[in-house]
Amino acid sequence: MRASRFHLATLKETPVDAEIVSHQLMLRAGMIRRHAAGIYSWLPLGLRILRKVEQIVRQEMDRAGALELLMPSFQPAELWQESGRWDQFGPELLRLKDRHERDACIGPTHEEIVTDIFRREVNSYRQLPVNFYQIQTKFRDEIRPRFGVMRSREFIMKDAYSFDLDRDAMQRSYDIMDQAYINIFDRFGLDYRAVSADSGAIGGSTSQEFHVLADSGEDAIAFSDQSDFAANIETVEALTPTGERAAPSAAMETVDTPGMHTIADLAAGLGVKAQQCLKTLIAEAEDGALVALVLRGDHELNVLKAERLEGVASPLRLAQREQIIKLLGVDIGSIGPIGLEIPTFVDHGAAQLSDFVCGANQDDKHLINANWGRDCAEPATADMRNVVAGDPSPDGKGQLRILRGIEVGHIFQLGQKYSESMQATVLDEQGKTTHPFMGCYGIGVTRVVAAAIEQNHDEHGIIWPSTLAPFQLAICPINYHKSELVKQAADEFYQKCQARGLDVFLDDRALRPGVMFSDMELIGVPHRVVFSERGLSAQQFEYKGRRDASAQELPLDDLAGFLERLFPG
Ligand code: ATP
Ligand code: MG
Repeated sequence: MRASRFHLATLKETPVDAEIVSHQLMLRAGMIRRHAAGIYSWLPLGLRILRKVEQIVRQEMDRAGALELLMPSFQPAELWQESGRWDQFGPELLRLKDRHERDACIGPTHEEIVTDIFRREVNSYRQLPVNFYQIQTKFRDEIRPRFGVMRSREFIMKDAYSFDLDRDAMQRSYDIMDQAYINIFDRFGLDYRAVSADSGAIGGSTSQEFHVLADSGEDAIAFSDQSDFAANIETVEALTPTGERAAPSAAMETVDTPGMHTIADLAAGLGVKAQQCLKTLIAEAEDGALVALVLRGDHELNVLKAERLEGVASPLRLAQREQIIKLLGVDIGSIGPIGLEIPTFVDHGAAQLSDFVCGANQDDKHLINANWGRDCAEPATADMRNVVAGDPSPDGKGQLRILRGIEVGHIFQLGQKYSESMQATVLDEQGKTTHPFMGCYGIGVTRVVAAAIEQNHDEHGIIWPSTLAPFQLAICPINYHKSELVKQAADEFYQKCQARGLDVFLDDRALRPGVMFSDMELIGVPHRVVFSERGLSAQQFEYKGRRDASAQELPLDDLAGFLERLFPG
């Protein structure tokens, strides 16, 4: 590709409304443009990368025996009513009516459509197993679209659906997809982890997420330093502490704590550690009343665990300040479990404390040296916190470490949920009708592009792994329009690269070297070759790898050998 023929649309300034690096760099590199919240166009540069992601996904899915098809975005409501999801799905499902007032939606996922296809096309065990996949646009009316294409409303997903005669066969199809995903993410050249997304993740898992590791990731993943245990932190059990709780050592006292409303304020104001304080959260109960959730000051509530507690409303709703003041007679910041007259759950970590600090249930007052069993009844305990680094691994092997990740893929055993609700059947070997067992397998194709940047960038721009780069090599001739020598060398090399089948970019714009170089660094081209009149007269060309600290001068008569070594085969 010649720059003069391409729409290179780089920006100098960092767009102010882009919060994370990948979003900023995708806008600055001219990969995407925004039209509305969570709605983007992919410009030619961005599309090149997107197509590379798709191509790897497609090749590995085909290799794993999956069959590509294409399903519609517009989906009739009847199918969703059959599966029961028309009523279950929240406002993320974009519902609409056509001109005949018929209900429909724009597909956020395709279990209903694919099950409809299956029940019409497949009727015998002889046609199984089968795995249909597509690479297609999804729409989810996300409550907070953000971070560009990382969490957008319209995005491209590869979604696959396997159908098998029984549970064991479903497990085999799932294992094949698991391996296909490993191949795909290996080929992307990204640092990633497959983690269990099941609760109680020990033993065979029926759902796994694939995360690209990046500090900005929305998800936390916990993994053991001594075994292969790895799971989304949402699902990881915090083991109950085994040691005895220390005995109380001092009498409880009430102290004034004006202006100390957070654990950090309290720890600083009283000169104690956060882990010696209790954090009391007030949530709504199923019956509309309130419940208290008590954690150690340095621990965080795990929403999924809290939602499973008896009587706690699900989805979890933390109480409003006005509601708390009205019903408990105390402001947030001074609430504590002692003397609190609502149902209370205490996390195991908080229940293990003695001589702790907690709200006194009077404004601007706290209790110090409070003790369970002595100053109030022994509490009802539960596991309701997120695990932290250093906690024991739930499989009993080693300690947990925590990394941040971006969920780019998810594989899931569905069982007979859709085949039963939508009456999809096949005849088995005995001629009996049976509902097939399904699996579903997603990859966020557009999100992969953002995640790759989030993991691979520096202060100059994007650093593409070679398999995803929009161009494998950039040729930057200095004074292309003024020097015949330079023009000839650059054109010749460009043709050689093209003949080798490389995605090569020739910067034939009449620009200063600094501008060319910074553009190529911004858009993340992995290799750069420079021809200049001075270099050519000395029988040299210049080369710089995107991650190299400096450029090197190389002999011109070895240009062909250099290309061969850089792109073997
Ligand atoms: P998340 O937890 O991030 O909302 P999800 O679990 O709802 O994702 P799935 O239904 O498992 O997503 O969809 C499969 C894949 O599609 C995800 O692993 C993710 O990579 C991608 N994906 C989901 N929602 C979005 C979105 N709003 N924007 C971009 N990609 C998305
Ligand atoms: Mg998911």
